[in-house]
Amino acid sequence: MSDTLSRPGRGAGWLEVIVGSMFSGKTEELIRRLRRAQIARQRIQVFKPRIDDRYSTSHVMSHSEQKVVSVPVDNASEILEQVGDQTRVVGIDEGQFFEKDLVDVCQKLANRGIRVIVAGLDTDWRGLPFEPMPQLMAVAEIVLKSNAICVVCGGMASRTQRLGTSTAQVEVGATGLYEARCRGCFDPHLAEKKESKSVSKNNKKKKRPSSMDARP
Ligand code: ZN
Repeated sequence: MSDTLSRPGRGAGWLEVIVGSMFSGKTEELIRRLRRAQIARQRIQVFKPRIDDRYSTSHVMSHSEQKVVSVPVDNASEILEQVGDQTRVVGIDEGQFFEKDLVDVCQKLANRGIRVIVAGLDTDWRGLPFEPMPQLMAVAEIVLKSNAICVVCGGMASRTQRLGTSTAQVEVGATGLYEARCRGCFDPHLAEKKESKSVSKNNKKKKRPSSMDARP
């Protein structure tokens, strides 16, 4: 695995980015890497944007219910403030929900000697790059593109298909609102087509899936 590379010289850390569609196992991969660091008795700290409240406010949790303790933050600069001197590894989940200053924050941490691992969506429901993940990928030492399996054809899924009719760039959600699809089965206009057929257009409230819905 590429993430087993030895430490770069001059005491610098590095940046690892894990991207992919929803249901591609990004968070599980983040947790796997964090767990390995913990086994080696390296001090880790984990952060996630406060917006992601679908399961738990104190854990990063994947769809398969693996979890690690994490701290919800309102913005990226809060991460800088909270990382302690003894911390060797910083994990950040749902990186796409941060502003562009996440890139600067990750660079500063890596320059300080910390291994930084960020997981997030590389594209939004339109299939377009989801900032700031593209910028993070450009400056990272290690990038993993994780794929899911297309729900329609069983092919390699790289896109997050929106099934609902909200106009938000991406809602926090899980099974039911989104599904993984391949390039061929992905349709960014699917929700609009559904919406034009639908009589009621007023229901733009975010659906909060139950934990049962959230399981892949
Ligand atoms: Zn497909």
